[in-house]
Amino acid sequence: MTRQGVIAPVEMANTAPTNVLVVGVGGQGVIMISKAVARLCQENGLEVKQSEVHGMAKRGGSVFSHIRFGQEVKSPLIPQGEADILLAMEWAEGLRWLPYLNPERGIFIADTQRIVPPFSCRDRNRGAESGYINTSVQELVEKVPNAFAMDATSVATELGNARAANTVLLGALSTALEFSQEEWHRVIAEAVPPKTVGVNKEAFVKGRHWVESGETATDFSSDNVISLKEPRESRLEITQAWCKGCDICVKMCPERCLQLDQHQIVQLIDEKRCTGCRLCEWLCPDFAISVEAK
Ligand code: SF4
Ligand code: SF4
Repeated sequence: MTRQGVIAPVEMANTAPTNVLVVGVGGQGVIMISKAVARLCQENGLEVKQSEVHGMAKRGGSVFSHIRFGQEVKSPLIPQGEADILLAMEWAEGLRWLPYLNPERGIFIADTQRIVPPFSCRDRNRGAESGYINTSVQELVEKVPNAFAMDATSVATELGNARAANTVLLGALSTALEFSQEEWHRVIAEAVPPKTVGVNKEAFVKGRHWVESGETATDFSSDNVISLKEPRESRLEITQAWCKGCDICVKMCPERCLQLDQHQIVQLIDEKRCTGCRLCEWLCPDFAISVEAK
């Protein structure tokens, strides 16, 4: 089976296993994507080994999953420099795992979404810059031969569910593996909550089309500069169903205007004090807060 588009399919009939590394932070659906890929490979008669680490997932910590499949797979872990595909749901996590990508033929697919770890915001004074890695999309594309950087979170947000960003990326990844779109849709329907099957299938198609149409990079939007700006009039929106009460935003808000209620859901307790700095939005691993300029 051949595909159009700029990702050349990985040769799955090789005797050596195909290696896919999925990385991100807690709450982004790394494990869901990894299980969907593993299941599809298994259903197609391939031997699959999958291993994952999600230690501090609830607090926005790193989550990663190694998937290896082929005619015979001996070890569950991908050695450095041997990942055929590195799928990153968070920008800095993607950069951190680059040494695992095969330097000659590896395919790097990343969301340009940035979830800022709390330790990179030690200075929370107005005007302070965060310590978040500042490698630009352009610099990355110049360094990695097969790099695809897309704003998957914005694509998913436009579809009505920012949490479907992982499925947008899965759509991009699907162009590198020789399974049919119908098979992908089936495993997605089995992996996501029933109410979100429709939006996830749409997200998958968007990601797939993005690659097939020849796109390779979406730059960070100018509104997405990681620095604590001067106060601006803004509106804070909390999606309560997505808040898992990790407390990160409450602890890190420079103005102390957030608090968890008795159900462990975040609330804005003093709208007047909020400066619209967006730190809570950048830090939340679950897309539960968005801050919009009025
Ligand atoms: S946007 Fe408002 S609520 Fe969020 S961290 Fe900044 S001051 Fe706190
Ligand atoms: S809104 Fe705050 S408490 Fe809720 S998940 Fe996000 S960072 Fe954690």
